[in-house]
Amino acid sequence: MITVMKFGGTSVGTPEALQRSAGIIMNESNSKVVVASAMSGITNFLVNGAERLPESRHDIIAEFEKKHIDVASQLLNGEQMDDFMKDFDQRMKRFRDLLEDESAAKSPYYVDNITSQGERFSTLILCHALRAAGAKAVALTSEDCGISAEGSPQSGSANLHKTESMIMMKVKPYVDEGVIPVITGFYGITDGGLPLTFGRGGSDYSAAVIANAMNADLLEIWTDVDGFMSVDPRIVPDAIKIDEMNFSEAAELAYFGAKVLHPRTIEPVRKKHIPLKVKNSFKPEEPGTIIHHLRKPRGDMLRSVALKTDLSIISIGSAEIAFHPEMVANIIEKIAENEVVIYSISTSLSTVAFLVHNNDVKSILAKLNTLGSGDIERIEVKGDLALVCAVGDNLLSKCGVSAEIFTAVKEASANVEMISEGASDVSLNFVVPMSRATDVVKILHNKYVGGGTDEGL
Ligand code: ADP
Ligand code: ASP
Ligand code: MG
Repeated sequence: MITVMKFGGTSVGTPEALQRSAGIIMNESNSKVVVASAMSGITNFLVNGAERLPESRHDIIAEFEKKHIDVASQLLNGEQMDDFMKDFDQRMKRFRDLLEDESAAKSPYYVDNITSQGERFSTLILCHALRAAGAKAVALTSEDCGISAEGSPQSGSANLHKTESMIMMKVKPYVDEGVIPVITGFYGITDGGLPLTFGRGGSDYSAAVIANAMNADLLEIWTDVDGFMSVDPRIVPDAIKIDEMNFSEAAELAYFGAKVLHPRTIEPVRKKHIPLKVKNSFKPEEPGTIIHHLRKPRGDMLRSVALKTDLSIISIGSAEIAFHPEMVANIIEKIAENEVVIYSISTSLSTVAFLVHNNDVKSILAKLNTLGSGDIERIEVKGDLALVCAVGDNLLSKCGVSAEIFTAVKEASANVEMISEGASDVSLNFVVPMSRATDVVKILHNKYVGGGTDEGL
């Protein structure tokens, strides 16, 4: 039996958290593979530093080095620390060289290379903490493991097929010998050998990719909340922990804003029927949330609500566009050239409207301008919108549910700008102005989440 255990930034962010996470790993009786994020705050620090290069070079190195050595020295005794420093100096030299290398700065993946540095050092500390606790452990980078990535800078996807054969060759032998591999999350390697990150929060996805490649029996995502909650606890502090979810529910919520899982985490494990647990590394005794194939329905009208902010609607008008599918196809093709995510599409006789991230609007408009003149009569952009994703059992087959939900939205004085119902059988999504979004979520949560019973259906 193999468990892949992923520890997030807060779970490896301090000496105490690292100690606790090492204890959780030691207590796991299955064979295990560990994946870790950077220590909390480090990736943001690197993202900001990368924007100020080359001037920030020395500051980045000094602060980065100090932070990691401080934490390691509180965990490891003299001899253990000496061992750690040998590995640390090697990796630090590579990082320093990267920041000095003017030709590397020209690579499209330069920012990926810099922002993925945090994972290389958090995993090293965790590996040495495990050794200090008596385990056999090895720190492996995504390069060492051959985690294969492809796609645009800072939003890569893993090639599952290539990754599987590499992991079987490079990682499985350690597990077979009882050694715990501690692997960097967040990034894979392009065919050209360069680091490519999977988007912010991407270590969950890395862990799912590794679980898929290892044919693991379980994936555990260790974080700082008790499990997958009925809403972001930062919006509604009395959010309820969900005991059990199915893959579709978790995937929809993660895609539409539930930050507890990277939006792409579910697919690699769903493909191989690998159950996923979300657990709190600060309270390991809590049972957490299990996400798997089947789940007995409960009677709650809503199980969870997620919020995706900073979105815009681009509406493209053209007479009788509905009768010109080739024009809609051209527009979508143009948008797709930028690999942007389209969160929703709606059409009418003379308009097709797309919901996209605010940051993508400029490049989409530039692409649309390259379409032949006369095709498009007008383009309108409405920004600062948020998408609310409501997930519930048989949400769409229950009579009157949509009416109830939109009555609640009215109570928050929010105008609904776009609706998507029926695209997925577990969720109902709609767009409201950012300024009303958290009120909508609070009202929906307070009115309709919880209170259901297993006998309800
Ligand atoms: P990690 O560093 O462990 O990956 P993240 O910060 O990425 O942790 O994700 C955990 C955070 O996600 C929680 O602290 C919580 O604030 C936020 N969150 C948003 N939506 C949800 C939800 N539905 N359930 C649980 N946590 C959520
Ligand atoms: N360290 C990366 C980030 O902050 C990846 C992760 O935490 O999952 O985005
Ligand atoms: Mg995360």
